[in-house]
Amino acid sequence: MNALVQTNNLTKQYGKHKVVNSVNLSVKKGEIYGLIGRNGAGKTTVLRLISGLAKPTEGDICLFGQNRHNTVYVQNRVGILIENSGIYPNMSAKDNIRLKCLAMGISSKSYIAELLEGVGLSAASKKKVKHFSVGMKQRLGIALALVGNPELVILDEPVNGLDPQGMAEIREIIVRLNAEQNITFIISSHILGELSKIATSYGIIEKGELKKQVLKTELTEDLEEYFFSLTGGVSYD
Ligand code: ATP
Repeated sequence: MNALVQTNNLTKQYGKHKVVNSVNLSVKKGEIYGLIGRNGAGKTTVLRLISGLAKPTEGDICLFGQNRHNTVYVQNRVGILIENSGIYPNMSAKDNIRLKCLAMGISSKSYIAELLEGVGLSAASKKKVKHFSVGMKQRLGIALALVGNPELVILDEPVNGLDPQGMAEIREIIVRLNAEQNITFIISSHILGELSKIATSYGIIEKGELKKQVLKTELTEDLEEYFFSLTGGVSYD
C-alpha cells in the first residue's frame, strides 16, 4: 500500500545547523506512528514541516500521494496540534471549536457538541479555557485538530506534562479515533513507555536524523534497549 505520508531527504537548516537532516519517513494509512527522540532531537521541526508550518530547506513531502505544495489538495485533510496553537484562553471550549468550525465553513451545533463529547469536555464546554487543566487543554487541542474530519492528525507531545491519568485519557481518545474513524496519527514523544502503549510503528530521531523506522511487531528487545538509551527510559515528567 502507498504511504499516506512520505518524506524524501527532508532537511531543515537554521543557520549552519541542520536540525532535520535527510529524513525519509513513511507513514501508512491507519497507523499510529510514534516519532520518538530526546528533547531537541528535531521531532517538532519534522512535524511542523509535514504540517506545512515550516518550509524544508531541502527535500520534499508527499501527503496522500501528492506533493505537500499542493495545499488545496491537502487542506482540511490534516489536523494539527502543535504547541497549543490556535487556542484562545479567554474563550470557552465551545467557542474555540465554534470559531474553528466557522473558519472552515461548518455551522452545525450538533457537530460542535459531538467533538466536545468525543474528548470528554461536554460538561466543561462553557468554561473559559484559561481555567482548564493541562490535560483538558490537550483534549481541547485534539478536538480542534479534528474539526473538518481530517484523515491524518499530527500531535506534538500530546501527553507532555500530564499525570498518569491524563495520559491514559489521551491514549484512550487516540486509540478510539483510530479504530472507529480510521484516522491515521503521527504522535511525537520523548517517553517511549507512553508511546509503546498505542503506537503501531515508530520512527526514532536523533540529532535531526531518522535512525530507524520499525513496526511494533519488529520491536525486539535489543531495539527496545536502544530506544530507552536514547530517551532515558520511562519517565513521567
Ligand atoms: P523538544 O521535545 O524539546 O521540543 P524536539 O525534538 O521537538 O525537542 P525541535 O523543537 O524540533 O526538537 O528542535 C530541534 C533543534 O532545532 C533544537 O536544537 C532547536 O533549538 C532548533 N530549532 C528549532 N526551531 C528553531 C528555529 N526557529 N530557529 C533556530 N533553531 C531552531
